[in-house]
Amino acid sequence: MSEIVLLGDEAVALGAVHAGLTAAYAYPGTPSTEILEFLIRYEARHGRPHAAWCANEKTAYESALGVSLAGRRTLVSMKHVGLNVAADPFINSALVAIRGGLVLAVADDPGMHSSQNEQDSRFYADFAKVICFEPANQQEAYEMTRQAFDFSERYETPVMIRLVTRLAHSRTVVRTAEPLPEKPPSKSPDTASSWILMPHIARRRWHELLLRQKDMLACTESSPYNVLKLNEERREIGVITTGIARNYYVENLEDLGFEPSHLHVGVYPIPVEKVRRLAAHVNRLVIFEEGFPFLERQLRGILPAGIEIQGKESGHVPAEGELNPDIVRQALGLTARSGVEMPGPTPASRPPQFCAGCPHGDTLNVLKLALAGYRQSMVTSDIGCYTLGALPPYSAVETCVCMGASVGMARGAAEAGLHPVVAVIGDSTFLHSGVTPLMDAVMARANMTLIIADNATVAMTGTQPTILSQPQLEQVILGVGVDPAHFHVLTAHPKHAGKNTEILKREIEYRGLSVIIARRECLEAVKESRKGGAA
Ligand code: SF4
Repeated sequence: MSEIVLLGDEAVALGAVHAGLTAAYAYPGTPSTEILEFLIRYEARHGRPHAAWCANEKTAYESALGVSLAGRRTLVSMKHVGLNVAADPFINSALVAIRGGLVLAVADDPGMHSSQNEQDSRFYADFAKVICFEPANQQEAYEMTRQAFDFSERYETPVMIRLVTRLAHSRTVVRTAEPLPEKPPSKSPDTASSWILMPHIARRRWHELLLRQKDMLACTESSPYNVLKLNEERREIGVITTGIARNYYVENLEDLGFEPSHLHVGVYPIPVEKVRRLAAHVNRLVIFEEGFPFLERQLRGILPAGIEIQGKESGHVPAEGELNPDIVRQALGLTARSGVEMPGPTPASRPPQFCAGCPHGDTLNVLKLALAGYRQSMVTSDIGCYTLGALPPYSAVETCVCMGASVGMARGAAEAGLHPVVAVIGDSTFLHSGVTPLMDAVMARANMTLIIADNATVAMTGTQPTILSQPQLEQVILGVGVDPAHFHVLTAHPKHAGKNTEILKREIEYRGLSVIIARRECLEAVKESRKGGAA
């Protein structure tokens, strides 16, 4: 056993290595990026496990599924919205026979520090009917990840580890245990009857998955991560915490003056019997869970109507943003703590902005010049540093919905009659989810212009490498059928602004689909490569 200081993300990564991990896959996304970054560094030092970035979360998940099919242990990691992209293989893989443990680590972002929504991945685990671990600290993240591989193989399903930003991105000492060796590759003899999800096989596998639910529930009822402590003296209140919310609750216990009956849930399905025992013991239940009122909503179906349940849905705990000790304190009926007075002036708020000299600024300046004079233009955009172009002083882009949406939305807006319509997307986001809507736009002969802001990196998440090289990116664009006469590669630099504006104006006026790559390297990526490479 040794002790090592780790981020929550890194604790998951090391837990997976020590569980005999063979390969890991991911697409970068805050707050999950550091899981694969740790594994890439680990592979560079120790020669294993294999760790690779993928085009998107779906391809990452499917690569992991292939490792599992080969009988070996595999990890796939992503942020919560990435699971929307990977939802198809994730949900379906609950029906195949997972023999090489497959663990999905998802990092949710309550409070939307770096995301476009607050969704709660526990719903996905419930939807797929698989086990979900929710660590409260880095030690649990390490231990639960190891156990998740065992559970995955025992129940023949993927298993989810759900992290949240505060845990993923905070660091503490973790005690590690004896590492396990990797499993050798082995092909299961029953693949044809357990991996081909044709209806007659899928129906049987679904039936078997439903039968296994009872065992999964028995397992979480007895899990040491689901701890019930009853206070025989005090019955006025019972508390349920999940994951990291336990820390906020424990921080307030001293001021509460007594320890209420308490159930902590660290692994799902919900341990129903423990919940019932707690509910039967107290007059009122207060639930603290990070994310959506997942547990609270299910309890309303499990418990008798008479018991008062207080949580996010009842309005006793805020339904949005992150939890913290002060919110928990208030819901427990304690008086607010006085804050610390900071002497001196209040620091001015600083809105996020491009790095000075960022190539995206030059691209957006040219776009604004090219669109000047049009009465009603539309600029759809996407997810990356260039989204900051929505803010002053640029105010140049008008949408940001999900990875790749800018391309399909531009096609739709053009077909709805707007002109000119321009889509702005980064090179990595384009390769993640922009190629398929570009195929739609080619097929539809959409009257739109697509600008691919190519900075040769995944800048926003820490300058990870783009999945294809710049010449390969050009081949993809021409390969899906874009007319070479309306495809240009420009250098996004102020000294080319005049010429670039002219070309862009011409293509905007062209009644059809045009694609422009506006190319110059991200300044952060250049700095990192001079230092020897970030990722
Ligand atoms: S990280 Fe790179 S792409 Fe992002 S704002 Fe800075 S220079 Fe621009």
